[in-house]
Amino acid sequence: MNKYTKITASIGPNSENRETLTRMIRAGVNVFRLNFSHDTGDVQGTKIDLIRSVSEELETPVAIMIDLQGPKHRIGNFATEKPYALTIGQKFTFDNNPAPGDNTRVQLPDADVLKSLNVGDRVLLNDGKIEMRVDDVRDGAVDATVLRGDAIWSRRGFNLPDTEISTSVLTQKDRADLEYAIGKKPDYVAISFVQRPEDVAEVRDFITARTSHPIKIIAKIERPNAVERICDIAAAADGIMIARGDLAVEVPYEAVPAISRCIIRECRKMNKPVIVATQMLGSMVASEFPTRAEITDVANTAYLRADSTMTSEETTIGINPVNVIETMSKILSHADMDAIANPFDWSRVENIPENDWSRSVASMAYLNKASAIVVFARDTDIAVQISCRKPDIPIVAVCNESVVANQLCLARGIFPIYDEQLFGMRDAFNAARRFHINMGKLVIVDEDKISLRTLD
Ligand code: PEP
Repeated sequence: MNKYTKITASIGPNSENRETLTRMIRAGVNVFRLNFSHDTGDVQGTKIDLIRSVSEELETPVAIMIDLQGPKHRIGNFATEKPYALTIGQKFTFDNNPAPGDNTRVQLPDADVLKSLNVGDRVLLNDGKIEMRVDDVRDGAVDATVLRGDAIWSRRGFNLPDTEISTSVLTQKDRADLEYAIGKKPDYVAISFVQRPEDVAEVRDFITARTSHPIKIIAKIERPNAVERICDIAAAADGIMIARGDLAVEVPYEAVPAISRCIIRECRKMNKPVIVATQMLGSMVASEFPTRAEITDVANTAYLRADSTMTSEETTIGINPVNVIETMSKILSHADMDAIANPFDWSRVENIPENDWSRSVASMAYLNKASAIVVFARDTDIAVQISCRKPDIPIVAVCNESVVANQLCLARGIFPIYDEQLFGMRDAFNAARRFHINMGKLVIVDEDKISLRTLD
């Protein structure tokens, strides 16, 4: 009862047996994910029967989510099985010729994908380790330049972050898998590589044409064009999975946390459950203990009030899937209880009295659209208090003691300057300019005096 955030667990060779599934449910799994990339429908069907039987035996409801492979694109075959090295600056051609490839060319078996590529589009291979840019589009071929090199070999997957691909979101394999799986009445169907709301509508039509069972649809967000249309896609789907694995290849990886927060926020507004997926406890594939960073990632998912975390390889091929779930449950319970006992600092900010001076500083900056706050920091207190009001503009702290400047490096949004001689009004302007703040208004704080000045 003290774990509010749910756990979606992928199952595979090391977990798909009665004993492990039983222990995983007891340890806190709420949804089992069956990844159809690895098996065909009929093999997965046996697993669905097994999960239902365990769930009934334990008198514990669990959901089953089938995850369709979707249009994961792969290059064709090379002449030999050995990897071919591609180096920066070299030319490489993708074509429709089924002849085995070499280090100058290879076939792209899907003709529609070849046709979708435009000059300037990036082609990413090997989880983004190889990056190419298309230079020329010819009849039945595209020429590209290698921008980042690595080894390449037969049937490697590739991503096209800049390319809108016109093919159906359901491949022939997906259709066959879904046709079969529908008969097994899964609770959720997750669709991979969704690009637009119409993709969700296509899958819904496919399902409703075959069953009246109310199967819910989860749209996996892993392409930049899906991120752009998140509200429309969330409106069309019954839930969202933030598929951070492919997403971190298709968008700059440093953008993934911001995108995740945005998706979680939008899903909350739209009443759609959201799953945060991939590498949550990845090190536990081979270890009995999570890393500190993984513990924090799992806890933050709870603090952000997402609906579910998700496990991947750690519960499919990992050494101890039950331990993974026990670990995840422990972290989530702790974070969930803490989030309730200590509501996030924003509520504390709201409890700060109207006449609190640091709140007045932040309000003055906000109402006057100031470009920065400059604080004459004789100690750390004033600057830190203003920082805690999260004014979202730089706080330039003018310090005449080096210890104060050093300590202020820790606090959010504070840019300290140390100079024994600084402390006049002109110094405030000069300090702001040192951080390239050249225009607009400054809120200047000197002990209990707050003033508004325009940069001259
Ligand atoms: C992902 O890319 O993060 C993901 C969940 O998708 P899949 O495991 O199907 O590649």
